[in-house]
Amino acid sequence: MDALTLFICTILASFIMALTMTVLRTANRKEKYLVDWAMAGIFFMSSNLLAILSLNFDLPTIVHPAMGNAFYLAGHSAIYSGVQRCLHGRSAWPLTLAIFLIPIPLHHIPVIAESVEIRILIFYPMILALNISALAALWRRRNDKIGRAYWPIMIVLFLFITQLVLRAGLMLAENVRMEFIGNQFMQTSGNLAIIGFIFLLTISFAIIVSWKKEVALREASMTDYLTKWLNRGALSIIAQKQYSISQRKRRRFGFVMFDIDHFKRINDHHGHAAGDQVLVEISKVTKDLMRSFDDCFRLGGEEFAVLVTDTTTHELHAIGERIRKTVEQTTFKANNVTLEITVSVGYALSTQADKFWDVTLERADKALYQSKEAGRNRVSGEMQRSGFCSPALAHSHFA
Ligand code: GH3
Ligand code: MG
Ligand code: MG
Repeated sequence: MDALTLFICTILASFIMALTMTVLRTANRKEKYLVDWAMAGIFFMSSNLLAILSLNFDLPTIVHPAMGNAFYLAGHSAIYSGVQRCLHGRSAWPLTLAIFLIPIPLHHIPVIAESVEIRILIFYPMILALNISALAALWRRRNDKIGRAYWPIMIVLFLFITQLVLRAGLMLAENVRMEFIGNQFMQTSGNLAIIGFIFLLTISFAIIVSWKKEVALREASMTDYLTKWLNRGALSIIAQKQYSISQRKRRRFGFVMFDIDHFKRINDHHGHAAGDQVLVEISKVTKDLMRSFDDCFRLGGEEFAVLVTDTTTHELHAIGERIRKTVEQTTFKANNVTLEITVSVGYALSTQADKFWDVTLERADKALYQSKEAGRNRVSGEMQRSGFCSPALAHSHFA
């Protein structure tokens, strides 16, 4: 293919990348890394525009190849920067600026200005380092919540890195005489690789955005807006899963439920907003008592439940007692007035005979009711005879 066609195709691909990222950014204001990727498209476009100009005009070295290469390197750096911002929330613009500025003075060194091979030896390792760093950063986060969304971009980066190494090796090993628009195969394959790279990256970036959105929506639909604990809808999904695991692996799970005592009085005396604040505070202090993998639910109103896996009655009791004591000892404030708040707790452990997960929850609810009946601010639960082999108490994080 002739050089002009290839450059025009690359400009088109880069333009589509910049445009897609800009449109996605407009619709997803929180996804700031899209700016970096839009800039990558603009840099690739600028690099190829200069290449086209150089076909028709005798440009000074500082414009072409110096700025052309600088834009091309900056494009790769902007991709890396976007990956960093996507994963860690901070972009790498100082690095991109440095990478843009480095090639310009280098092109004034005669030996570099005159030899494409030497430019390859200098710039290919930089491009490789940027893409390998982006790939490594994504690889380290492959087990994240949205880790699967990183696979397309990881594959694209891997393919690009591989072809770059192969091409560099081929060009240097065979000592192919390099000219700017010289060796047709090298020219064509190199540009096609870049066009493919830019197109596939655009698709991969879009996948990340839509995947993130999907996960965020799913999480929002499962989360209580006030306390950020899981809601009742999430309970049936998670508890059902836990029930199946416990049946299969003969492990027990349990619920610790608690309900704020005389909560209506708080609303009546201090207002609904103060009541809301108390709900938030209680959810925070009690969440700190749980293991990170115990799921916490707001069942509604001022009623909460914790799903504890692989547990025993003793452990459930210990958790319940710790919740009760912590709330009792915490000072809550509403409208500058100190509130003394207590909770009543009930817990229940699953048994092999339970036909559904909610049978266990019902027992915990009954135990909670007993605590209320017995005068509130107490813990109730059944000490059940075990049909399973219970894990050792030494396991307990709560005892
Ligand atoms: P008990 O000790 O028997 O549990 O008494 P209680 O007053 O805590 O229970 P009751 O069921 O009589 O009242 C619960 C109150 O919780 C009534 C309702 O207005 C209030 N409530 C429910 N959801 C919210 C909420 O999201 N925010 C606030 N501020 N109040 C809520
Ligand atoms: Mg209550
Ligand atoms: Mg209640």
